[in-house]
Amino acid sequence: MPNQIIVKSVLNKTKKRDSWFLDDYTFNPYSSCSFNCLYCYIRGSKYGENLETSLSVKTNAIEVLDKQLALRAKKNQYGIIVLSSATDPYLKIDREYQLTRSALEVILKYKFPVHIITKSNLIKRDFDILKEIDKEAILPNDLKYLNRGTIISFSFSTLRDHIGKIFEPGATPPSLRLKAVTETKEAGFLTGISMMPFIPYITDTSEELEHLFTTFKSAQVDYLLPATLTLYGDQKGDSKTLMLKAIKKHYPELVEKYNKIFLNSYQLPEYYRNAFSKKMKELSILYKINNKIME
Ligand code: SF4
Repeated sequence: MPNQIIVKSVLNKTKKRDSWFLDDYTFNPYSSCSFNCLYCYIRGSKYGENLETSLSVKTNAIEVLDKQLALRAKKNQYGIIVLSSATDPYLKIDREYQLTRSALEVILKYKFPVHIITKSNLIKRDFDILKEIDKEAILPNDLKYLNRGTIISFSFSTLRDHIGKIFEPGATPPSLRLKAVTETKEAGFLTGISMMPFIPYITDTSEELEHLFTTFKSAQVDYLLPATLTLYGDQKGDSKTLMLKAIKKHYPELVEKYNKIFLNSYQLPEYYRNAFSKKMKELSILYKINNKIME
């Protein structure tokens, strides 16, 4: 049973729009995330080892969102709302609470555009509202060229269910997520992939990259946003501790490499990041998949 909390604000105005996610605002209906990805950047002592145990429902989220959006709309401050930046908008509990669906109804009422980022196939439930938003939303002037009110990104770190089970144990299995990608694309949405993070020596091998790009090309995705792994902290619930523990258990042959890279750093070495960036550009050209939402 998740905790229930009352919040003062649910619509966060970003300081600067990220060129990948195009976020002017973020909205998180839940605090913490039951998908419990080991590499998740929200991890830290605040949430504990199992993110599900700290999951909270923002019970007054819809009422607060309505007030905040009414004010923004009145001031003509239209911008893309990202659902979500610090949880998944389609957690299993959203079947019961439906906060995301209710939030989308409010967003449609005020005609704001949305960018949904999810690891779940529950999004299909809301295709009806998302289609309305896609048609009705008012884009900020500098993003009018997008000509779409709804952007949908599915987040992956792998396409293999057995790997997903290790690193993102609570999320919809990648095979079902991939099916949802195809259905989303077929439903006519601007649909892409947030491939974040690639897991070094596991999901970034030549064989895996070929499998990933071939699969997403067949699904006719509009873009693929790639990123490398970053790991933080040395406490029990921190991403670095949990990832290194999982590598030790499931990939003992990689322990030495991971220790060498991450024991004194939160990110991969510069040579890796440069080679990764070069490879992603090459694959983007080879498979004709944009590495931005719109080129
Ligand atoms: S789905 Fe996103 S927010 Fe949730 S645990 Fe995974 S990375 Fe974190």
